[in-house]
Amino acid sequence: MRTPVLAANWKMFKTNREALAYVRELASLVKDEATVEIVVAPPMTSLATVVEAARNTPIGVSVQNLHFEKQGAFTGEVSAAMAKDAGAEYAIIGHSERRRMFGDTDEWVNKKVRAAIDAELTPIACIGETLEERESGQTNAVLDRHVREGLKGLSEKEVSELIVAYEPVWAIGTGKNATPAEADAAHRHIRSRLAEWFGAEAGKACRILYGGSVKPDNIAELRKLPDVDGALIGGASLEVKSFFDIITRGR
Ligand code: PEP
Repeated sequence: MRTPVLAANWKMFKTNREALAYVRELASLVKDEATVEIVVAPPMTSLATVVEAARNTPIGVSVQNLHFEKQGAFTGEVSAAMAKDAGAEYAIIGHSERRRMFGDTDEWVNKKVRAAIDAELTPIACIGETLEERESGQTNAVLDRHVREGLKGLSEKEVSELIVAYEPVWAIGTGKNATPAEADAAHRHIRSRLAEWFGAEAGKACRILYGGSVKPDNIAELRKLPDVDGALIGGASLEVKSFFDIITRGR
């Protein structure tokens, strides 16, 4: 049984005060939630506030990125161990915005996934094709490369325990989301590769989230798909009510 995950990626939004108000309100709404894993990924400036407010609630906390080195002269960066020390339990890695704007490569994604696991954080490893890649028939080849390179060297158990987020780049923040048939095909493909390359248990147990313009009114059909184990949500997670609707719809 794969427990569904609903993860809110706040990106570069929310002050400390706004983060605190959000988590307090969300905590009161989800206090009896036991059927899904709820994750909030605040910016680093409100990580400590969110960790504190989420203590003894069903809300887990993620960082949006980390550096793969343990420490050093990397101005502006935070290591996996530092994120863990600050109370994070998850780490979003390889988000398409980081790949596109901050130079994250498959090799870096791989190192970051390794660093997260070594620091006992659960990676949420993001993969997905651009519009150009989809339109030129390369979707599966891109997904294969992201899975093979991003998870290179991991054991079957490590892959079983991490989270993959399939986020077609053309659907992120655009209001266009993949049709259920497109999401279904991509998720099935990813799961079959995980099984083929890392072992049957990895294919069976790894949670694969869909991300890309998920909203309260489209989550239910996505969650019906057998290989979709929840969602990574950007824009529609910024309001508590909207994120709570996404959590509760489509069980
Ligand atoms: C994301 O940032 O991971 C994302 C899926 O964003 P949005 O829901 O806004 O498309």
